[in-house]
Amino acid sequence: MAPDYDLIVIGAGSGGLACAQRAVEYGARALIVESGRLGGTCVNRGCVPKKIMWYAGEIAHVLRDAPDYGFDVQVTGTRWGDLVASREAYIRRLNGIYEGNLERRKVDLLRGHGRLVAPGRVQVDGRSYTAGTVVLANGGHAMVPDVPGAALGITSDGFFEMQECPKRVAIVGSGYIAAELCGILAAFGARTTVAIRHERILRHFDAMLGESLMEIMRDDGIEIATHAACRSITRGNDGALQLNTIDGRTLGPFDQIIWAIGRSPSIHDLGLETLGVAIEDGHVKIDEYQQTSVPNLYAIGDVTLYAGLTPVAIAAGRRLSDRLFGKQTGRKMSYDDIPSIVFSHPPIGTVGLAEDAARERFGDRVKVFTSSFIPMYHSMTQRKPRMRMKLVTVGAIQRIVGIHSIGEGSDEMLQGFAVAMRMGATKRDFDDTVALHPTSAEEFVTMR
Ligand code: FAD
Ligand code: NDP
Repeated sequence: MAPDYDLIVIGAGSGGLACAQRAVEYGARALIVESGRLGGTCVNRGCVPKKIMWYAGEIAHVLRDAPDYGFDVQVTGTRWGDLVASREAYIRRLNGIYEGNLERRKVDLLRGHGRLVAPGRVQVDGRSYTAGTVVLANGGHAMVPDVPGAALGITSDGFFEMQECPKRVAIVGSGYIAAELCGILAAFGARTTVAIRHERILRHFDAMLGESLMEIMRDDGIEIATHAACRSITRGNDGALQLNTIDGRTLGPFDQIIWAIGRSPSIHDLGLETLGVAIEDGHVKIDEYQQTSVPNLYAIGDVTLYAGLTPVAIAAGRRLSDRLFGKQTGRKMSYDDIPSIVFSHPPIGTVGLAEDAARERFGDRVKVFTSSFIPMYHSMTQRKPRMRMKLVTVGAIQRIVGIHSIGEGSDEMLQGFAVAMRMGATKRDFDDTVALHPTSAEEFVTMR
């Protein structure tokens, strides 16, 4: 009997939507199954609400700088609750647009929890559907540590539900989310502490980025508790929370504690064991073509082990459909040199190898170019956060293998540089490109 569909995708987040919509462009009959809101993590609890809050943080900084530019402004308060309400209204509009897109493109949508029950067979609320190809695009969820009192804290999901800005807040973790949320909360006036296990935030990025960000965070009044591995969370008689560290310190009191210690894939109750799907480090194991260990079953996005970023999930989903339904033999995702932005205050842009990683791989063939300066915008302001940039090059031709930047505008400037790096640009190519003046970006083509 012919299957019900050519493609069933479980999960209508960034990757699943992209995969299903690209498949129908090639004439495939596609069904997408979603248990939550359309758009997944990115739209509902990730990139989109985060970026709105980040803009608010940027505005807070600009308002602080405004008198230095001759404006007589006085901020008398903030309305976090109003901002949250209009942000959520925007997201609901996006949910509606996504639903309309599926209808228009003729992707069938089924609301419910999808589970694999046999090869090519997915069950949703007791009814099963068959397809020649099934794609897992289930995404992930925030991790909470296994320490006493962990449930007293919230995750980034809880952050987006907060109806008011806490007065005193701790964020535990040292990656993207910790770096991003602390800047937003501090900009809104929260007394903010970041508790990290080691010496540096963003330890897995080029060292210059974390070091610079910590300097700026401290100047902005954010407290950074280093070597502060959490032993437990307790609530005092006054209702306030305390974070107790393994080495015996007590941090607090806090009104909120936010866990930002990484995410794990949402593969619970998915039927993976029934089909014997191989797992790799807790994620669905895939080969370079997104193929799982089971024929005709693929996985994309955060459910796999690779770079948990929206554009990565989208690109993997689209390329998979290009290959399976668009006759583009051999088309696949390259997981090398993926650019990313940390939406801290100020933002960070990074692509390619960190200096340490490059030296480990290429030894003394590595040459690094750096620049550190006060951007012109801050020539007028009381605040003087330094902008820092780095180019990591290799070999006699000085091929660029890493580009890193922290400072205003780093977010918007990186995309074009990432294209240049992917095309094999050398330092000479950068030198021969005429600068745009006066900008911060021009430093990348004038470094010596
Ligand atoms: P998701 O978007 O998580 O979608 C998975 C979907 O599957 C969900 O809607 C879920 O409800 C559904 N689902 C799961 N199991 C089932 C089931 N059994 N049946 C039916 N439906 C199911 N990335 C960036 O690139 N830039 C950013 O600025 C950025 N900011 C972020 C900020 C935060 C706070 C967070 C948490 C993440 C952020 N990310 C960012 C990461 C980005 O959101 C994810 O990498 C991206 O959403 C992954 O897409 P996905 O399709 O793999 O999964
Ligand atoms: P990350 O993986 O970015 O960072 C988490 C860090 O927290 C770890 O690297 C580790 O650093 C530290 N950590 C781990 N366990 C503990 C623990 N028990 N106690 C204290 N610290 C701990 O995770 P996030 O939660 O910040 O973000 C999840 C993912 O979402 C990101 O990896 C990214 O893929 C995506 N994301 C992307 C964004 C963007 O593109 N702008 C924004 C937000 C999220 P160490 O070893 O140094 O202690």
